[in-house]
Amino acid sequence: MLKLQGKSVYRDVCIGRLVYYGGQRDIGRRAVEDREAELLRFEKALLGAKCQLRDLYQDSVKVVGEANAAIFQVQELLLDEKEYGDCVRDRILQEGVNAEYAVRTTGDEMAGKIGAVEDTYIRERAQDILDVTGRLINVLAGGIGIDLPEEPFILAAEDLLPSETVQFFGGSVIGFALRKGSTHSHTAILARSMGVPALMKLGEALGPECDGKLAVIDGFSGVLYLEPDEAALSAMEEKKRESDRHKAQLRELMGKENITRDGKTVKLFANAGSLADVEAACANDAGGIGLFRSEILYLESDEEPDEEKQYSFYRQILERMDGKEVVIRTFDIGADKRVSWLKQEREENPALGLRAIRLGLERPSLLRTQLRALYRAGVCGKLRIMYPMITSVKEVLELRQLEQQVKGELAKEGIPHAESLPTGIMIETPAAALLSDLLAKEVDFFSVGTNDLAQYTLALDRQNGSLERFDDPDHRAVLRLLELVSRNAHAAGIGICVCGELAADTDFTAEFLRMGIDEISVSPGMILEVRQRIREL
Ligand code: PEP
Ligand code: MG
Repeated sequence: MLKLQGKSVYRDVCIGRLVYYGGQRDIGRRAVEDREAELLRFEKALLGAKCQLRDLYQDSVKVVGEANAAIFQVQELLLDEKEYGDCVRDRILQEGVNAEYAVRTTGDEMAGKIGAVEDTYIRERAQDILDVTGRLINVLAGGIGIDLPEEPFILAAEDLLPSETVQFFGGSVIGFALRKGSTHSHTAILARSMGVPALMKLGEALGPECDGKLAVIDGFSGVLYLEPDEAALSAMEEKKRESDRHKAQLRELMGKENITRDGKTVKLFANAGSLADVEAACANDAGGIGLFRSEILYLESDEEPDEEKQYSFYRQILERMDGKEVVIRTFDIGADKRVSWLKQEREENPALGLRAIRLGLERPSLLRTQLRALYRAGVCGKLRIMYPMITSVKEVLELRQLEQQVKGELAKEGIPHAESLPTGIMIETPAAALLSDLLAKEVDFFSVGTNDLAQYTLALDRQNGSLERFDDPDHRAVLRLLELVSRNAHAAGIGICVCGELAADTDFTAEFLRMGIDEISVSPGMILEVRQRIREL
């Protein structure tokens, strides 16, 4: 038995076999029987990757101009290089290995050789070789590239990007075990919203050799047991039963009010990022959806989701919530949420870069499509719109103009849409908190995203798991800003919600109520826990 200590992001226990997901980092060598068929797979993937690059070039010329888009032509030429293709073909035909492995080893070898050359221009091509190699592997794998078992399993990996995590939605994943990771990352939030135990920062001992082993995640203590002995297994089974009993007890709070013993009520909503989360929100008696992270639509597509697709998605959410309030946040793309088809430029500091509303203002056609879909869906329920990563009043005014344009267009085209929708902003930068008196005059509500507010206030990268020692949920800097925002919201007569992960920390529920927070929005699995706490106060 091996016991690994990590950081837990969800308090529950799960027992199952580990499936180790290596992403592209660990493409395995596999002997193939039919070498000709494997060669054909490679040739098809080569064509597919070249088509993708041609499309990318054409699309990006319009956006970034010929000079910048030329990189995709260069990459296409690299795929045409005889040396590259022949080397892969030789490996498949002579060594009888799988195409992914042949591509990966060829790409690594060529990039290694070129990377050692003195000429800077040639050296930079090494990165392009790695890029096209990755693209080819993706085309070959046609998705995440591993067969997932049908029976429940624990997914282990070095780390997971949000775009990788979403691919496991709806499957039989019962837990996540990550070698690295950070408890504030979007991946951690996704795991929490799926209501499965997840451990981050388990360390080097968790590797591909663990694949297939029986494991237990104790999300209460943050321990991963690998091949548990009988005593540990039965102790964990008992803990799981205890956790199930606690959950059953919480279920008795279904349908009950979120009311303190002295009669103060507060709205208790759910954070969601998928239709499955919306289901979970209903199953856990959420009063509404306080934050719907709409990025999922963009992360799961290979191209920009069009207006119809978005409209029907938002409509489904509203119809499922059946007249309850739903706050949909416009896309928060950027930072760790990278969307390949958007061809965003590499940034030195992506968390401080072209993220969220900044991307929307830079590329207004993206935001316009989303707003059109939202205004159209607005007639199907009680919808509110929310903008992320606001830092100034000017941004809000620009957004207000865009809303007017969108409504004008829809009216002109005779398309049914909501005349007006309550519009709010996320307070997740210190700038927004400090300007909250002015911002409150321009919007209908605030929602405080404590994850980013803490990240930007404390200068603490939420993706960096090694900073956790400096990460204090009780940091007064963040709580003082929250109190200031609450005061300013109420002075202007608008409501304030807290929707970051701190909202679910029941150690702070009393403080939130004291500050006058009107609405608390948490992952669906935490609603009844927070309700229990409110009812004790
Ligand atoms: C936040 O920053 O607290 C928040 C709710 O937004 P996200 O976690 O999606 O960045
Ligand atoms: Mg945020």
